[in-house]
Amino acid sequence: MNGKTDKRVAIVTGASRGIGRAISAELARSGCYVVVNYRSDEHGATQTLEMMRESGADGEIMRFDVSDHKEAQNAVDDIRSRFDSIDVLVNNAGITADGLFIMMPSADWKSVIETNLNGFYNVTKPVLEKMIVQRQGVVVSISSVAALIGNRGQSNYSAAKAGLIGASRAVASEVARLGIRVNVVAPGLIETEMIKDAPVDNIKTLIPMARVGRPEEVARVVRFLCSEDASYITGQVISVNGGML
Ligand code: NDP
Repeated sequence: MNGKTDKRVAIVTGASRGIGRAISAELARSGCYVVVNYRSDEHGATQTLEMMRESGADGEIMRFDVSDHKEAQNAVDDIRSRFDSIDVLVNNAGITADGLFIMMPSADWKSVIETNLNGFYNVTKPVLEKMIVQRQGVVVSISSVAALIGNRGQSNYSAAKAGLIGASRAVASEVARLGIRVNVVAPGLIETEMIKDAPVDNIKTLIPMARVGRPEEVARVVRFLCSEDASYITGQVISVNGGML
């Protein structure tokens, strides 16, 4: 038994909708007990949990703000105290605050860095402390094609998502010998709330497959990276973007 479950324990941040919800469902189907994190949308997080339960899996919802160091630390401490191991962490929570760099208020720069990049530090560090003792674990972080191409109007977002890649590669090399793998998935345009105001028809012309992706198409890659099938993959960035770049 792993505390109150005999399954692998996975934490998915930002799982009240969109890609995080699809990742939670996919990991649950693959046999994980999933801690479904959210910041404000408790109803959405509960729906994610219900979806998982319908497929016979289990988990729980947990509120914390990944950009708040103390809240994240307390949440991970709580999980650590209740389960013998934390096997999987998916850093998925993310926000945008788009605008041309020259017009960008400091608050928009900071909020995106604090959630999308500092959130990685706040959650991954206490989880890794546990994984190092266990001598096993997997971390996957959700970056973006914006990190690789530098989207116009997304300097804050591109910086944070590129920072995630650098940090993940560095951490991967530090913990590889300890049985812990750290990878990044970089999606292109995926059909979620996040892109509801994006000029999708214009952007589609830049996608060789001429369509946006579905959250499940990202989630399946995350599930693979979290599985034993990916046992020799670490420090990598896998793009899921319909052929962009
Ligand atoms: P959504 O906006 O649909 O969902 C974002 C999720 O993140 C919500 O569950 C939200 O929770 C949560 N969240 C936001 N801020 C915080 C926080 N501070 N602490 C905890 N949870 C938080 O986004 P997507 O599903 O589209 O995106 C998921 C990830 O994929 C993000 O990192 C995004 O940058 C990345 N991505 C998305 C792409 C796309 O085209 N959709 C493309 C490339 C990357 P709540 O509602 O409870 O606040």
